[in-house]
Amino acid sequence: MSLETTEPEHAFSGDRFDAIVNLCKRRGFVFPSAEIYGGIRSTYDYGPLGALMLRNVKEAWWRSMVQQRDDVVPLDAAILTNPKVWEASGHLATFTDPLVDCRNCKERWRADQIEGVCPNCGSADLTEARPFNLMFKTFVGPLEEDASVAYLRPETAQGMFVNFANVLTTMRKKPPFGIAQIGRSFRNEITPGNFVFRTREFEQMEMEFFVPPPDAPRWHEYWCQERFSWYQRYGISPELLRLRVHDAEELSHYSAATSDVEFAFPWGWGELEGIANRTDFDLNAHARHSGVRIEYFDQASGERYVPYVIEPAAGATRTMMAFLLAAYDEDEVGGDRRVVLRLHPRLAPYQVAILPLSKKEHLSGLAREVLAMCRERYMCDFDDTQSIGRRYRRQDEIGTPLCVTVDFDSLEDQAVTLRERDSTQQIRIPISALVEELTRRIGA
Ligand code: ATP
Repeated sequence: MSLETTEPEHAFSGDRFDAIVNLCKRRGFVFPSAEIYGGIRSTYDYGPLGALMLRNVKEAWWRSMVQQRDDVVPLDAAILTNPKVWEASGHLATFTDPLVDCRNCKERWRADQIEGVCPNCGSADLTEARPFNLMFKTFVGPLEEDASVAYLRPETAQGMFVNFANVLTTMRKKPPFGIAQIGRSFRNEITPGNFVFRTREFEQMEMEFFVPPPDAPRWHEYWCQERFSWYQRYGISPELLRLRVHDAEELSHYSAATSDVEFAFPWGWGELEGIANRTDFDLNAHARHSGVRIEYFDQASGERYVPYVIEPAAGATRTMMAFLLAAYDEDEVGGDRRVVLRLHPRLAPYQVAILPLSKKEHLSGLAREVLAMCRERYMCDFDDTQSIGRRYRRQDEIGTPLCVTVDFDSLEDQAVTLRERDSTQQIRIPISALVEELTRRIGA
């Protein structure tokens, strides 16, 4: 990644970032990993609400990339695989960042992310940059010897390339078609940081779309537009996003064209997703290294070719953070300040909170019945402690779009109060019509 100098016009302040980091910890979205042991630098665990939201981000991606298309099939490949994969892909030779040491304070930096002076101590006495391979190395089996070296995958993409022929034959697909995968990737980043923006273990959502070579530029454009609009469909406003075309020097070794979807992070524009035209680089490389023919044969026309690949590669964890930053808001309701996460209902940890006005048994019985109905379809929270105003504010702060209040009248009229997060508007609705109304507002 090159140093980005253009500042976004609508960048959030550092205060917004601090507020999000604080909220994530306080409300159980993200915890420092192994905190009781003092943590481990830039490694995080996703708490109950973070686990729910991260899952929703992945679900949203999966829905639009797999479920709602008939030209993309899923895959779930192994994290540890034959090291020849990484030799063929070029990762062993070239998946490096330029590393420099500060001779004064001994900190290490990525040369392309600093401006000739150590950000820690200000010294300009830095070593020459040398390539540092980002792959984590380990050993498979009991012997720690060269023959048992393996790597944790630094991207999920290669799983799709090495399975191309398997998928082609088992699924009877023909280009244009894609293979999609969500999973963990690992990179021994020199300078992880900015909360979950850059971590050494993270989750990716990647799709390899195989096309006839002459159609690659058109499909590249298609996927750039499709992916750019996805972030907006899930609630990020357009002025916080841009699509940036890589110039020739920035392109990866495998790419003919790449555009990044970038978000206006508090420290400047940062990548959420790269959409690359990887040409036939990967399939050819695997064919060469494995000695196995990898190509598409069209039985109708007798044509044989190696498809080009268009790859939209997104980070789930980084994207979740962008959704949180974009959703964070503070406003005033009835004279009270509140924090509200204006998350898309599909991304919010809970879609619905069921709030019985009192803990009294006959009321909680009815509230539990309402809960049982709603959780058939939606992730629900149930909270019967403290004043109703405080409970609404708790739900606003974690982004729950709808609250259902069960009160003493409910026992008489079999109706509940439905409160909407953003407007705070409340309507009375019969319990028999509740799920239908939730579906109308949230989706099925
Ligand atoms: P960067 O330039 O930020 O290092 P990259 O260009 O190397 O990222 P890709 O290889 O294109 O990233 O990976 C696709 C996506 O995976 C990125 O857009 C990002 O969302 C996510 N990603 C990559 N590295 C990390 C990381 N260390 N932590 C969290 N997410 C990451």
